[in-house]
Amino acid sequence: MIKLHDKHFKPFLSQAQVQAAVKNVADKIAADYKDETPIFVGVLNGAFMFVADFLKEYQHPCEVSFVKLSSYSGLTSTGIVETLLDIPVNIKGKSVIILEDIIDTGRTLKELVHLFSNTHVKEFKIATLFHKPSVYNGEYKIDYIGMEIPDKFIVGYGLDYNELGRNLKEVYQLNQNTMINLVI
Ligand code: 5GP
Repeated sequence: MIKLHDKHFKPFLSQAQVQAAVKNVADKIAADYKDETPIFVGVLNGAFMFVADFLKEYQHPCEVSFVKLSSYSGLTSTGIVETLLDIPVNIKGKSVIILEDIIDTGRTLKELVHLFSNTHVKEFKIATLFHKPSVYNGEYKIDYIGMEIPDKFIVGYGLDYNELGRNLKEVYQLNQNTMINLVI
């Protein structure tokens, strides 16, 4: 069990399980894009570790860039998605593959789709390491999913709780029992 700010988190995924999910995404994309040079666009801050490990698995020609969006405050999505770092230049005619750390409600994804509309890219695909299908609004097709997880707040491997926990190499889950105990 670890403590970040006021909350306790319990182990959820080992480093090996996370790496297997990363490889799962990289292998699927590599199979689909073996004759192309896609541009991977990582979504900061959460996807930085995923992008780095993904690229170590994806040893084929590609470009890499980042956008920066923010929608979470503490444990809940605020619903307001801000664009803090804009789309890369010169993406016209290219195959863009978004690399997201996690897709939860899909609000951030909607903003991403909006960001890349009218950019005249060849194609626009979405890859996410983690996905919470039970809360996803289902508006857009998610092309590549590393691992489906339950609707529990997780930290580690790039994901934070109020900026803490991003550096953890394993993934931890909010310990609901601890929360209840704390409330009592
Ligand atoms: P959505 O817009 O799909 O609701 O949420 C996407 C963003 O919210 C992700 O890029 C991530 O930053 C954050 N997020 C969603 N679920 C979690 C979670 O379980 N833990 C953490 N730390 N962030 C999450």
